[in-house]
Amino acid sequence: MKILVLNCGSSSVKFQYIETDLEKIDRNQDRLLARGLVEKVGTQEAVASCQAGERASRDVGVDLPDHRAAIAKVISMLQSTGVLADPGEIEAVGHRVVHGGDFQTSQLITPQVLKKVEDAVELAPLHNPHNLKGYTVCRELFPDRAQVAVFDTAFHQTMPARAYLYALPYDYFRRHRIRRYGFHGTSHRYVAYRFRQLAERSKEETNLITCHLGNGCSITAILHGRSVDTSMGFTPLEGLVMGTRPGDLDPAIVLHLMAKFEMSPHEVSTLLNRHSGLVGISGESNDMRLVLESARQGHERARRAVESFCYRIRKYIGAYTAVLGQVHALIFTGGIGENAPRIRELSCEGLSWLGYELDRTKNEKAVGVEAEISISSSRTCIYAIPTNEELLIARDTYRTIEGIEPV
Ligand code: ADP
Repeated sequence: MKILVLNCGSSSVKFQYIETDLEKIDRNQDRLLARGLVEKVGTQEAVASCQAGERASRDVGVDLPDHRAAIAKVISMLQSTGVLADPGEIEAVGHRVVHGGDFQTSQLITPQVLKKVEDAVELAPLHNPHNLKGYTVCRELFPDRAQVAVFDTAFHQTMPARAYLYALPYDYFRRHRIRRYGFHGTSHRYVAYRFRQLAERSKEETNLITCHLGNGCSITAILHGRSVDTSMGFTPLEGLVMGTRPGDLDPAIVLHLMAKFEMSPHEVSTLLNRHSGLVGISGESNDMRLVLESARQGHERARRAVESFCYRIRKYIGAYTAVLGQVHALIFTGGIGENAPRIRELSCEGLSWLGYELDRTKNEKAVGVEAEISISSSRTCIYAIPTNEELLIARDTYRTIEGIEPV
């Protein structure tokens, strides 16, 4: 099945065109036909690029006033790079949707599903409205094609109440849906599946801790294939230290900032979402490459940023080891997890007594590739596995349409 995967943000459309089916999934041989990005949507200076095998298309300064124009541009780039003769060849569309409320799995978008996703807009006001624009446009462009929503939150719906409840008065959960949801579920699920495929292990015999370290960072405890705890919460602010977000924080700090500096909710939100984390501590950048380089050159705040980042990961690895009891593998993924051996090293430092022993040489070599990076006698094996959320969205789209259980 040929599937267009769309990830629509406020001013961008990321896309991949993927061919998949059951046999290809089993053999990990799905075909990436094309991928690309449209940026600065809503301006007259949009930038659109598409790579299809050897053929590429790139346009700078295009007038793309809205997502409709942007998606039309995606289709025309797929045609001009030769992967699509006719738009009718697209058999289905898979959408990344950040918040799926209480949906546990990906969903064929029907009016009832759409209503529930719209209900979840209040839980993810910065993301869901844009994700839904992709659906609305595709419904017009391909009225007879199935469209599937793949949610970042769905994988974590298996968390038990003790993990997802905040210890607030119960009505805030019951009436206002204030609870931990967790995000990055598509990535955690993808690397968990890929590990089981590589290690030839079944879901039932595998417990994992998966660390997604990108601009946003989260860590998940997976028991027999089901998420039982994850570090992000009601929003993606909770948990690990991130590029621009602080992760776990005493909520009284927010009250203090509002009382003492008369900061508005909007100002506090900007502080917590844009100016904290790596960039906040280092004062330099949210890009881990730059922060690591500064730390190496002896910049004190950059060093502290790296240490805080890794220390928080270590704490969560310890906590999730306690949650799971027995852990078969610890997996690093995301831009940092896949490419930064130093961060993996510091995140596992001092954890050998818990069963996590990195192999220095293997770790150094594993950059952007799938690799086992622990010593052979490590009680828990450690892996780096590049994530592939778009591929998982394509596979889920296929499975949902065919009525096949997700893995
Ligand atoms: P997103 O969460 O936006 O998808 P990514 O998963 O691409 O982000 O991760 C972005 C992060 O990965 C950035 O902090 C970037 O500095 C970091 N990164 C990418 N390559 C490297 C590298 N070689 N070494 C260290 N960090 C890296």
